[in-house]
Amino acid sequence: MTGEPALRVRGIRKNFADHTALDGVDLDVAEGEVVVVIGPSGSGKSTLIRCVHQLETIDAGAIYLDDELLGYERRRGTLRPMSARRVAAQRGRMSMVFQQFQLIPHFTVLRNITEAPVRVHGRAKAEAEAEARELLRRVGLADRAHHYPRQLSGGQQQRVAIARAVAARPRVMLFDEPTSALDPELVDEVLGVMRGLAAEGMTMVVVTHEIAFAREVADRCVFMEAGRIVESGPPDAMLTSPRTARLRAFLARHR
Ligand code: ADP
Ligand code: MG
Repeated sequence: MTGEPALRVRGIRKNFADHTALDGVDLDVAEGEVVVVIGPSGSGKSTLIRCVHQLETIDAGAIYLDDELLGYERRRGTLRPMSARRVAAQRGRMSMVFQQFQLIPHFTVLRNITEAPVRVHGRAKAEAEAEARELLRRVGLADRAHHYPRQLSGGQQQRVAIARAVAARPRVMLFDEPTSALDPELVDEVLGVMRGLAAEGMTMVVVTHEIAFAREVADRCVFMEAGRIVESGPPDAMLTSPRTARLRAFLARHR
């Protein structure tokens, strides 16, 4: 923990029809903290960060970003869903990086990064491009500004996606299995970029099966199963001596 809570998740529930995907999840993420979320497929990891990013609505509980309630506003004493415009503004304070990089195929690398800052945040094009070039340098792709996504490897595309996410100057970055779609030899270059962000103090929630990354980079690790947080704590202790049989079994499958 290095600072004030940036993100607070309180008792959130999410149902899909009769299936409970999140069954009362609490999570605090301090400013500058890196929280790594692990857990078996279907345990609710994606749903958790999709709820935080307001890509899903929640059925109960509350999520706060810097003490501001997400998605709802109090009017005449009752909580009501916010307008889509206000939700979009809140969403713009976080960046999410997906398993499938989701770059825009007919935009160059540079334009993929500058599009939102220029069109959504009204930044000057020259300034946005200068910043994008600096970000490309940081992710090791300074010479790819004018390439198109299809001309890049998966690892390079994901590094562009991360540069794009950082260009939005997010308060919190959310990663959903950012290396799961990559060939094994390309995983490290993406994890290396994420390690760099963590070292610079970015506040991050990272869903990943990369246990070594969790051990090395996480300030805190969270293990989910069946829509609940089953264990959480400092990664070294938790991953070396899990308290629950369920985490022990999970780790045995992910060495
Ligand atoms: P994880 O990311 O840990 O693999 P998910 O959060 O994607 O798990 O899913 C949690 C549970 O919710 C799973 O049982 C999944 O099938 C279900 N689920 C997720 N999204 C949907 C959806 N849009 N519609 C119906 N069920 C969903
Ligand atoms: Mg998932």
